[in-house]
Amino acid sequence: MVTRTALLYLSRQHRLKNVLSGMPGFKQITRRFIAGENIDDALEAIRELNAMGITASFDHLGESISSEAEAEADVREYLHVLDRIGETGVDSNVSVKPTQLGLDIDESLCLGNIRRIVEAAKAKNNFVRIDMEDSSKTDATLRIFFKLRKEFENVGIVLQSYLYRTARDLEAVLAAGGRVRLCKGAYDEPESAAFPKKSDVDANFISLMKTLLKSGIYHGIATHDEAMIRATREFAETEKIPRETYEFQMLFGIRRDLQVGLAKAGFRMRTYVPYGEYWYPYFMRRLAERPANIWFVVRSLFRG
Ligand SMILES: Cc1cc2nc3c(=O)[nH]c(=O)nc-3n(C[C@H](O)[C@H](O)[C@H](O)COP(=O)(O)OP(=O)(O)OC[C@H]3O[C@@H](n4cnc5c(N)ncnc54)[C@H](O)[C@@H]3O)c2cc1C
Repeated sequence: MVTRTALLYLSRQHRLKNVLSGMPGFKQITRRFIAGENIDDALEAIRELNAMGITASFDHLGESISSEAEAEADVREYLHVLDRIGETGVDSNVSVKPTQLGLDIDESLCLGNIRRIVEAAKAKNNFVRIDMEDSSKTDATLRIFFKLRKEFENVGIVLQSYLYRTARDLEAVLAAGGRVRLCKGAYDEPESAAFPKKSDVDANFISLMKTLLKSGIYHGIATHDEAMIRATREFAETEKIPRETYEFQMLFGIRRDLQVGLAKAGFRMRTYVPYGEYWYPYFMRRLAERPANIWFVVRSLFRG
């Protein structure tokens, strides 16, 4: 727990990125979790996944930007990604982060930016998932989602089972006909906002998963936790909920065995594929989720 908190603290210390980036071989290490630096790298990874019966979601790495120009560059990147998905025919949607598209500058700027991406995706019969960041952004992110949901069918949201508020938010999202990606939550949250105990986060995940599966709306169950996956499969079987009405989701490079296994067993499986140069906070959150990953980094560095 202390290690997780420390790593999440370091994920916000951008000077460390410069130190790590300067270390020989570090780029290679990030490739464990990140498909590469540009769209072509991500496309290559997605083609491999598609060949195994796994769909994808493009994530252009970026968050907490502080200028309109950076947000505009990210909008253009996503418009380009949607074009490339259309041209290449890969089976993938896109995931965006509100603070990558200007949420810290101005909420209406961010809304307008995400709207442009959702509009372009609609024209291409594609789908945009709005990622959920730390709990200081939840209200604004949901406001943006609800506004867009009134205009568009092809937009979905992420909800996190570690937050106390999520059961209530889920009711409102379902009432709006919203599609949800359910995950546990990856940020450092105070006890006033999130369950401190993993067992409570897991119990909430299972309870939310059941509500999602019974809603009649297509949702994503995003986890690498075998207990959560088993609970989902068992619930779907007992309730006779067809496999085509929901999907499992996992992150690039994590539990590939489970990803391939679920796809082979006939479940819908989607992998989130991050790419880009702004890898640092994403990479550090992946280390925080499983401190044993630090040993992988240390071993790789010593191996040179
Ligand atoms: C598709 C997808 C999208 C996501 N989007 C968001 C989002 O928008 N907002 C948000 O806050 N979080 C997001 N997350 C992250 C999520 O909240 C969790 O932090 C992360 O998935 C780890 O939780 P877990 O459910 O896998 O369970 P855990 O209990 O953390 O892990 C269960 C098991 O999974 C494996 N595992 C988990 N993480 C790792 C890792 N980093 N490296 C190696 N093995 C690992 C280990 O075997 C571990 O024992 C997303 C996750 C996925 C899969």
